[in-house]
Amino acid sequence: MKVADNLQTINETIVKACEQSNRSPEEVKIIAVTKYVSIERAKEALNAGIVDLGENREEGLAAKWEALQGKPTWHFIGSLQTRKVKNIIDKVDYIHSLDRLSLAKEINKRANKKIKCLVQVNVSGEESKHGLAPEEVMTFIDEIKQFPNIEIAGLMTMAPYIDNREFLHECFKKLRKIQLDIQKLELEYAPCKELSMGMSNDYAIAIEEGATMVRIGTALVGEE
Ligand SMILES: *Cc1c(COP(=O)(O)O)cnc(C)c1O
Repeated sequence: MKVADNLQTINETIVKACEQSNRSPEEVKIIAVTKYVSIERAKEALNAGIVDLGENREEGLAAKWEALQGKPTWHFIGSLQTRKVKNIIDKVDYIHSLDRLSLAKEINKRANKKIKCLVQVNVSGEESKHGLAPEEVMTFIDEIKQFPNIEIAGLMTMAPYIDNREFLHECFKKLRKIQLDIQKLELEYAPCKELSMGMSNDYAIAIEEGATMVRIGTALVGEE
């Protein structure tokens, strides 16, 4: 399938999900997750009108970054080892996987400018998932104030890969609730405007619950 055709289908789904929830489609940004696909396929996505690309590994990011230079906005969406921060920090516009203080410290140290970070939260409690437990988030946000190069742009979660719509709604609702708690604090370093949630199988549900960034790989660019 052409990326442009997939994008059209996704855009139609986004419009419907926004109608369901009284939102404007302009509030939802599509991040094309290119981790499974070639540089050529990533270029095809950009030609189809995609602006934001997401990669989850240092190597994949480096290869596509070299080839595409400053064209896309880059999102690092994978779990990030502290020792790798220095290799990605100058290439990315957003880091979606901030989940521990040691990582925040390293990002702060290596950054030459303010880095937009999203705090990853494990709302479902699945053991295999990275991220802070919901009850840890507020303390974590408070601790970030010591790092002048970090802006808390939002929150990110990965829901379990299941078919249970109600459960998925509950997961995404939980993240939205934490976002509202943070926004109430009106912290300059933590505007927390973004909710990065929803992937190929659950992005419509995530949008109904307030997603501003959906990370779509398989349904948009495919997986090979
Ligand atoms: C791979 C990946 C995605 C995209 O997954 P699809 O199911 O292919 O859409 C989104 N977010 C993260 C963090 C990923 O690692």
